[in-house]
Amino acid sequence: MAFDGEQIRGVLFDLDDTLLNHRGAARDALALWTAGAGLSEPLDVLESRWTALETHFYGRYQLGELSREEQRRARVRAFLPALTATDERADAAFSAYWIAYEHSWRPFEDARRTLVRVCAAGLAVGILTNGSLEDQRRKLERVGFMDLEIPLIASSELPAAKPDPRAFWAACSILGVTPSRCVMVGDSLEADVQGAEAAGLTPILLDRYDSHAGVPVRRVRSLDVLTQNLGAASAEGQPRLAPPARCSESPTTTASAPSTASATTSKS
Ligand SMILES: [Mg+2]
Repeated sequence: MAFDGEQIRGVLFDLDDTLLNHRGAARDALALWTAGAGLSEPLDVLESRWTALETHFYGRYQLGELSREEQRRARVRAFLPALTATDERADAAFSAYWIAYEHSWRPFEDARRTLVRVCAAGLAVGILTNGSLEDQRRKLERVGFMDLEIPLIASSELPAAKPDPRAFWAACSILGVTPSRCVMVGDSLEADVQGAEAAGLTPILLDRYDSHAGVPVRRVRSLDVLTQNLGAASAEGQPRLAPPARCSESPTTTASAPSTASATTSKS
């Protein structure tokens, strides 16, 4: 339903909670981490508090108000004030969480096949994510998507993060498509959908948990819906780029480094 008949030439995917199950990994990590720290509140309560802190302080990092390390310390200090008096203790506390979080990284079941199908249809594909290129690249390595060689475009390497239009324009430039011929798929109404629309792209909200029913946007509940008509669109003769040979629904055992934003943009 999404890409046929619209002269679409490129598709950008968000990473966290679109391709990678960040929410599930963070919850699993939190369960381990808080048990080790002796917290006894219900996991739902802890998750709500941790998520709010993440949203607030990570947002300030995205705006350049805090460094990557400062936002991490601020999050654990607000969450565990008794255990994080010094920077060293705060860093150790965050590291304990991060190890558990990283161990829990996993892709959504529909993620790889969607990337492969869009790629094989000849569309330019990229991953546009807010965050550190180093962290986000490790996620792709962990979930086994590196062999697809899809450009990873991280906001740490861009003039601004989503929803700033400059993030989308830079990503479109890297893919070699104009914004009006590019789709942005993501789970965030503000960062992905509203940002993409303001930048002139076609936004699609991925609403896996049915949190935005009734919101007047193009909305899908799974990534599979996006590729249902891709074969038909190609068969109708709509010109596509040549499908790359690397596209495979089975991951290869030898991963190669994907191209990244750092290859084509300068650090802000
Ligand atoms: Mg997201």
